[in-house]
Amino acid sequence: MATPDGPDSNPGFDTSQPTIARVYDALLGGKDNFAADREGAALYLKYVPDAGRCAIENREALVKGVHYLVREAGIDQFLDIGSGLPTQKNTHEAAQEINPNARVAYVDNDPIVLAHGRALLATNNSTIVVTADLRDPQSILSNEEVRTHLDFSRPMALMIVGIHMHFHDDEKPDEWVRTIMDTLAPGSYLFITDFVDTGEPLQKGMERAGLESLGNGWIRTPERIEQHFLGMPLVPPGLDFLARWFPEDPDADVPAAEDLEPYQRILMAGLAKKA
Ligand code: SAM
Repeated sequence: MATPDGPDSNPGFDTSQPTIARVYDALLGGKDNFAADREGAALYLKYVPDAGRCAIENREALVKGVHYLVREAGIDQFLDIGSGLPTQKNTHEAAQEINPNARVAYVDNDPIVLAHGRALLATNNSTIVVTADLRDPQSILSNEEVRTHLDFSRPMALMIVGIHMHFHDDEKPDEWVRTIMDTLAPGSYLFITDFVDTGEPLQKGMERAGLESLGNGWIRTPERIEQHFLGMPLVPPGLDFLARWFPEDPDADVPAAEDLEPYQRILMAGLAKKA
């Protein structure tokens, strides 16, 4: 496989423009990114100096959510859409450290995720990675690999983590998610994190960085984010800032929202259960 910007740098995809997956990788301190992506990440850091810590907290929230789903909810299969490049602890690692038989289908529309994911997962039979687009939910639902790997007659978790912000509301992203959720068995879960807008300048800075670097990355009010859950009841503690969100211990003694660092008030997480 080609090394980003290395001597054999002919990876087979356009490296002249930043992509969401690679900019996020750069913010997380990964190596699967190119000069244009690092420029994109630099824009984030210009407007939100702690943007890298936001990305790390988002990954930590992903692990918290997966641990809850496996340990408390008994979920053993995951459809992780917008999964991103492999990084330190991925969904399958978080799930399989509790249930080694947990199965994960990673879906991303950026071909670099497939390239790097296949290499990483070559020895893990419980995990697949496919290239498909959330904008075309039927293409995911009818994907042979996905259908063979996951059992749609049993509950699973649909993960839409750190991806809604890349869609404008005019695109009606909730309808794509609804199409998938409608096909999942009762007892399935929907796990979401998203950029929030409670009127703070740093939240606006995050949006500005996204729009200038990637052309997307909108912030939304908590009320609007709640609508992503399609009316399904939220698991305690409900929708909250990542640093306050502990689904395995919803009564945890967490800092008041106003005592968090401003960068910790940029992303919120929530989990809902389908009746
Ligand atoms: N879910 C991971 C996490 O939270 O750490 C990665 C989040 S990353 C910010 C967003 C991911 O969504 C990127 O890997 C990007 O390629 C992917 N993505 C963006 N638009 C997508 C689409 N229309 N369909 C599928 N994946 C998409």
